[in-house]
Amino acid sequence: MADFDVAVIGSGPGGQKAAIAAAKLEKRVAVIERRNMIGGVCINTGTIPSKTLREAVLYLTGLNQREMYGQSYRVKDEITVGDLGIRTQHVIGREIDVIRSQLSRNHVAVLPGTARFVDPHTLDVIDEQGRDVKITADKIIIATGTRPARPDSVEFDEETVIDSDGIVNLSAVPGSLIVVGAGVIGIEYASMFAALGTKVTVVERRERMLDFCDLEIVEALKYHLRDLAVTFRFGESVAAVERRARGALALLESGKKIPAETVMYSAGRQGMTDGLCLELAGLSADDRGRIQVDEHYRTVVPHIYAVGDVIGFPSLAATSMEQGRIAAHHACEEPLAGIHHLQPIGIYTIPEISFIGRTEDELTKAQVPFEVGISRYRELARGQIIGDTYGMLKLLVSPEDRSLLGVHVFGTGATELLHIGQAVMGCAGTIDYLVDAVFNYPTLAESYKVAALDAMNKLRRVARFEL
Ligand SMILES: Cc1cc2nc3c(=O)[nH]c(=O)nc-3n(C[C@H](O)[C@H](O)[C@H](O)COP(=O)(O)OP(=O)(O)OC[C@H]3O[C@@H](n4cnc5c(N)ncnc54)[C@H](O)[C@@H]3O)c2cc1C
Repeated sequence: MADFDVAVIGSGPGGQKAAIAAAKLEKRVAVIERRNMIGGVCINTGTIPSKTLREAVLYLTGLNQREMYGQSYRVKDEITVGDLGIRTQHVIGREIDVIRSQLSRNHVAVLPGTARFVDPHTLDVIDEQGRDVKITADKIIIATGTRPARPDSVEFDEETVIDSDGIVNLSAVPGSLIVVGAGVIGIEYASMFAALGTKVTVVERRERMLDFCDLEIVEALKYHLRDLAVTFRFGESVAAVERRARGALALLESGKKIPAETVMYSAGRQGMTDGLCLELAGLSADDRGRIQVDEHYRTVVPHIYAVGDVIGFPSLAATSMEQGRIAAHHACEEPLAGIHHLQPIGIYTIPEISFIGRTEDELTKAQVPFEVGISRYRELARGQIIGDTYGMLKLLVSPEDRSLLGVHVFGTGATELLHIGQAVMGCAGTIDYLVDAVFNYPTLAESYKVAALDAMNKLRRVARFEL
């Protein structure tokens, strides 16, 4: 008999939920994780530190209160890394505690160390002192996540030239920052530092950013970030970064030189598979370290599964958790229905963005007709009360059956508000429900009713013209 029914490598959102789901199915489960990394990238260097930092920035800068109390409003004038770190460390500590407690309550054995395959059913777990222990398992779930990709041509020194992991270890808030790469992580950090007063330049190889989002909302975000003194250099690449006494000089391929105290690379992520000895289990990874899986998150070796960022898109904590649960159920021969086709996207820029379903561009390209219903926060009493005059909610509605094709939200609470639209879409509802429903007043949720009424009125106008 194997030592464990299920062994999970990595304790990020994917691994954690896989382990707990298997334990709930009364299996003997082990999670292998490196010391000081319980909770994975999510808790230690990614989602949780960045979202807590954002909250600290919004509070200490008083940014969201300036509409009411004037542009000079601040909770604290000189915000230090220490001020920001207190909140981050507090939340990380609490979250680790919650995860440890959940694992222990469910009798999941946590084995400290780094795992690698010895054969398809055996893992070697090596701790920090170099001691190793071999364990066997009937089923193995790989949830090893990713690390920031680092271009070979750039020398990282963890102070002047950093990647996104380095943000939490900065010794001071930089006066100027170059963000290389306008992906989600790059733009989230660009907006946080811009809010802190750092002079931010974003360099992006492509002509657009966040091109999977609604174009109008991305334009609104760019307007806001420019208002916070962010400079965008689209269609430009960094050729070299030279370190100088007062920071670094980024040399762009176009010949431009940009000086900054700190340069942060946010140039994609690499799957954490290089140390796993995958070949000893009959597995392999692609050049970005990603493992291929089927719809049950099973690799080519049927008793080995992979979930989370290590399998690639969408690389979100939210989806990783669900993948972990689905994989564990399949491995324990109690399969679930599979992942829901509707997946929300949340982008914690300042202001934040969230959407579900399709964009206007996608629908137009697919020649799917739609009507747009819009609600602007400034026309809602709650928007006025909180001083959010720029937020908006946009519903994309099918003229055929008034079902929702997409929901796009920009502004305060976007990532929370979105889930009302998700519920309506997930239950195949129409805007008729949103038009008829009574919402608490004054709320931002009311924007659903306003946008639904807007769409309904537009549909009616078209119908009248067709008479
Ligand atoms: C800056 C940043 C912000 C983000 N913000 C968001 C957000 O707002 N919302 C969202 O949904 N997602 C966000 N993400 C993405 C999210 O963090 C990831 O999708 C999620 O953490 C992936 O979970 P995972 O289970 O794949 O494992 P990870 O969280 O990547 O953890 C993997 C774990 O495996 C361990 N491991 C690796 N190799 C081994 C080995 N050989 N042996 C033992 N252990 C090993 C690692 O130590 C690590 O702890 C963000 C990411 C970053 C970097």
